Amino acid sequence: MKKYLLKPPAAPAGGFRINYEAELNQQQLEVVLAGDGPMLVIAGAGSGKTRTLTYRVARLVECGVPMESVLLLTFTNKAAREMLRRVAGLLGTDLRILGGTFHHVANVVLRRYADRVGLKPNFTILDREDAADVMSDVLAGRAKLLNAKKFPKADVVLEIQSYAVNTETLPQRVLSERFPVLFEVAEEVLRAIQVYALRKREMNLVDFDDLLLLWRDLLRKHDDVRETAHQRWRYVLVDEYQDTNRIQSDIVEMIAGPEGNLMVVGDDAQSIYSFRGANFGNIIDFPKRFPSARMFKLEINYRSTPEILALANSSIRHNARQFEKVLQANRAHGPKPERVVCGDVSEQARYVVQRMMELRDESYEWRDMAVLYRAHWHSMEIQMELTQRGIPFQVRSGLRFFEQAHIKDVAAYMRIVVNSRDEFAWKRVAKLYPRIGNVAAEKIWKALEAQPDPLGAVSCDAVLAAVPKGAREGWKDLTRLLQKISTPEVRRAPSEMIREIIDGGYELYLQTTYANASARAEDVRRMADFALRFRDAQELLSELALTMSVAGQEAIEEREDTDVVILSTVHQAKGLEWRAVFGIWLVDGKVPDARALHESGGEEEERRLFYVMCTRAKDQLALVHPTIGDERGVMGVIQRPSRFITELDQGTFEEVRVGYEFDEEE
Ligand code: ATP
Ligand code: MG
Repeated sequence: MKKYLLKPPAAPAGGFRINYEAELNQQQLEVVLAGDGPMLVIAGAGSGKTRTLTYRVARLVECGVPMESVLLLTFTNKAAREMLRRVAGLLGTDLRILGGTFHHVANVVLRRYADRVGLKPNFTILDREDAADVMSDVLAGRAKLLNAKKFPKADVVLEIQSYAVNTETLPQRVLSERFPVLFEVAEEVLRAIQVYALRKREMNLVDFDDLLLLWRDLLRKHDDVRETAHQRWRYVLVDEYQDTNRIQSDIVEMIAGPEGNLMVVGDDAQSIYSFRGANFGNIIDFPKRFPSARMFKLEINYRSTPEILALANSSIRHNARQFEKVLQANRAHGPKPERVVCGDVSEQARYVVQRMMELRDESYEWRDMAVLYRAHWHSMEIQMELTQRGIPFQVRSGLRFFEQAHIKDVAAYMRIVVNSRDEFAWKRVAKLYPRIGNVAAEKIWKALEAQPDPLGAVSCDAVLAAVPKGAREGWKDLTRLLQKISTPEVRRAPSEMIREIIDGGYELYLQTTYANASARAEDVRRMADFALRFRDAQELLSELALTMSVAGQEAIEEREDTDVVILSTVHQAKGLEWRAVFGIWLVDGKVPDARALHESGGEEEERRLFYVMCTRAKDQLALVHPTIGDERGVMGVIQRPSRFITELDQGTFEEVRVGYEFDEEE
């Protein structure tokens, strides 16, 4: 076939709005100005990868590329929003660019092409907890198995199936390699996984993995859809490419095509999601998969002081499997990172909080500081200490706003309206009413399920017959409420729908159920405010489900303008930066995590995690660890400092020992 090449878009007549030369260094500029074709930017932490991607988007727009032709894929929806806001600010225009996580875009695409992959367009997205509900139900259906001693819980079965999907391995293999203790029940686990898939299909449900899988299937099997996507998205840009898996790389490759304008940026040293199937081979093999790809490097770190960078480099050097990278510091000198040795865990918490208060007395705002850790529960003592001292903070890794029971209850009402075959939503709602428990809810569902239109039939005789006598009054209330919220007007006004739900009986339920009912009711009202931005209930529900995705955990209460200290797992801190970072619980067994060490490549992945932790810091870095801790019910177990600290070059940190003022006086 003969190929006809279009010239890259020309510069705008009145010149560019942005002075790219002033905002970027030479290496970054080359990336931004590069013409068409596949491109790979591989560079260390804080070297401006995300910034370069942002300016590249701006440049494309300035050159007249239609905004609909640009697709921006990022690790969180918030990251995409921030980048696009930045571009809009630079250009002084509104943007109509599709950006967000792979899951987010998959949802948009699959709504449109649902029928091609055997779904109805009103499918419901299951978050992890919903998926566990479905799986528990599957397992309960095979109740005798639950008596088997070693039979795993729903979460574990889901983990097995999800890992299998994301690494494209057979579940059998995942079972035998990663869960050998389940050998005896392997057959039954595999059967449960199959039934789970069937159940989802029957109920028009998709879980997070399905979103990616179905999107890829759609592109693979339907030439016209792939061609349309290819024609539409002429420019595909992906941040944090080192943490994509094979399904995701297949998707972007199909959209872009072999010579397409696919630009990926990433850092192999920051690949920390292999436990979810992330494959940094995606970066390393990029030149093989795209022979015409151009490679770019960025070698100046703008984020951290030379002292912090020296420590980070001295750590990552211990990894054998990596691209050699040069990373030079650009910033002025600052204080050396500190290794802080504390007596026990509460001392660790007191140290961190006291230091934060001191920094605040200098020039720091609360939002300039973060506490980073390996596992969510490592932050418990710090949370208590911060609460006691009245310091505002936010937990990026905890139970989120939308994961709370009352929010999920309200969402269940909405799910019924949107998809009246949603068994779990019906059961959840039914059980909110007096005298309806698991058994009655099951019976009611069976009656509803038999109806052609379950929502319309909510008060028909067959259904009423299934409602226990003492529950009829409550059921009448529910019927009235459902009628109210299923009118076309209310469907298009999700905020109003939520207010109807709370006024139509849910507040009463809260009051009779919870000690802190008013706080919960307040949450629901905040949810109603949040809902104002959505055009209909379905759009809101999709957003809620995606908000909770592991790859995109973000809560709406996380407003930019609030001045709060951030507490986060390292996994959730990717791509972010703070002036002061406190890494805590840096003892062997926690960092590196004892279990992760059993996996092949586990130690290197844990070291990358430590590297990500350290490279979040701009000005100050404290690596904190207790010497004594409680473990498995035993108090006062001696803790060894993390090997990632002890292996560091001498001189890369200052040692600090925490004591009490009265010790000094002795
Ligand atoms: P990570 O690997 O952690 O994702 P990154 O490579 O994406 O980091 P950025 O977050 O884009 O790096 O940049 C790090 C910091 O350095 C940001 O505050 C950014 O604004 C700043 N920065 C990057 N390049 C420049 C530059 N040329 N001039 C001034 N500041 C810059
Ligand atoms: Mg980045």
